[in-house]
Amino acid sequence: MAPIQNVKGMRDHLPADMMLRQYIVNTLTRISESHGFEPLQTPIIEYAETLEGKLGDEEKLIYRFEDHGGRRLALRYDQTVPLARVTAQYAGQLTLPWRRYAYGPSYRGERPARGRYREFYQFDLDIVGSASPLADAEIVAMLCEALTALGFPGFVTLLNHRQIIGGIARVSGLSEEAAGGVYRAIDKFDKIGADGVRAELIKSGVTPAAADQILELVQIDGTADEVLDALAQKLAADERAVAAIANLRAVLDGLMAMGVPAEQYRVAPRLARGLSYYTGVVFEAITPHWPEGSLLGGGRYDHLIGLFAGRNIPTVGLAFGIDRLHDVMIELNLGPRPQTTALAFVTLFGAEQVAESLRLAAELRAAGINTLIALEPGNIGKQFKEADRRGVRFALVLGPDELARGEVVIKDLQRGEQRSLPRAAAISLLAEALSEGK
Ligand code: AMP
Repeated sequence: MAPIQNVKGMRDHLPADMMLRQYIVNTLTRISESHGFEPLQTPIIEYAETLEGKLGDEEKLIYRFEDHGGRRLALRYDQTVPLARVTAQYAGQLTLPWRRYAYGPSYRGERPARGRYREFYQFDLDIVGSASPLADAEIVAMLCEALTALGFPGFVTLLNHRQIIGGIARVSGLSEEAAGGVYRAIDKFDKIGADGVRAELIKSGVTPAAADQILELVQIDGTADEVLDALAQKLAADERAVAAIANLRAVLDGLMAMGVPAEQYRVAPRLARGLSYYTGVVFEAITPHWPEGSLLGGGRYDHLIGLFAGRNIPTVGLAFGIDRLHDVMIELNLGPRPQTTALAFVTLFGAEQVAESLRLAAELRAAGINTLIALEPGNIGKQFKEADRRGVRFALVLGPDELARGEVVIKDLQRGEQRSLPRAAAISLLAEALSEGK
């Protein structure tokens, strides 16, 4: 018999994990909707051709297969390329600029590691159809808002612009084509360090002198203004880099006006972001408590949708990695850790009390209290134990005496206190506990 085993790199999420994952997703959904973003869902399977030619080197990680009709299909690699397809396909039905959010699984044939899986969930935010730096600023402000709401300590959003890296390559004497190799090498900076990047650049045909200059420029450090001032001086000869610096300054002005605390972002000229479709501002959020990789990443991609739509539709967006947020929250002990979804457990005293107990459970649910009901009448002590084992805080009993008095016994299993209250008072007490717990 084959072993009972899930597929490598793909995970089962048991209830305790799911409750924290849902808390993360609910928080991101709330923030998205507070900015007027609208939900979108697309299929997990796309035509292989839809994904091909969009991802650069990463294309080799796409899962491809043939269906029963011999069509060439693929599991989606991210939610960005499907968004581009949707924008082109439903052009007449969408009002641009369009703010959309999407949540779901993506698939990559990566080598699994801590925080890196073959099936993982992303939560995407995109503003489709605007080139305004305020759109970039809004996306970055939202990610800072989200990481703050989730309680991430000390996170920083690194910001850069593709044409700053392009400018660094050009002023170092590289051709436009060679600049692609520079993105790829610099993208590995945090993994392989300055010496590693230098070796990689030289391997790709860059002269040692040019490699040294590139490395010097990508390591410029300081406050956002200091870094941009230094870059403006070094890249003054490159028109596109000068425009990119002005664009990034406008984004930073937007962030400040939106009230994002200055310690939550930094300009990092070494940030490249792997995906080939980015054209403008790029960013990713990191935390010193998780050196393995970014919590999320995104940027502006003004040409990708044009591959489908036949005209460029400027767009900026990001993807939160839910698995990574979850792993880091577990590691840092962040977020609520409920053991169950229910606050109340209605016991069954005896066969005669079943109908009234079911009614009590319905009344509790109508008052917004998540309620479990026992499935067999019997020993109340045992039922209390069951409730406690499940992590439900309150157990309720409707015995013949309580029914006669119009009361209900309510036991707080956390504090070990028990009392008999009029039914309405018992429901109010639970409603109060619920609002305190929120
Ligand atoms: P990307 O789509 O590559 O820009 O990635 C965006 C975010 O998705 C990353 O910052 C990660 O949080 C998450 N992510 C990307 N690849 C994986 C993976 N293989 N496993 C888990 N999370 C991932």
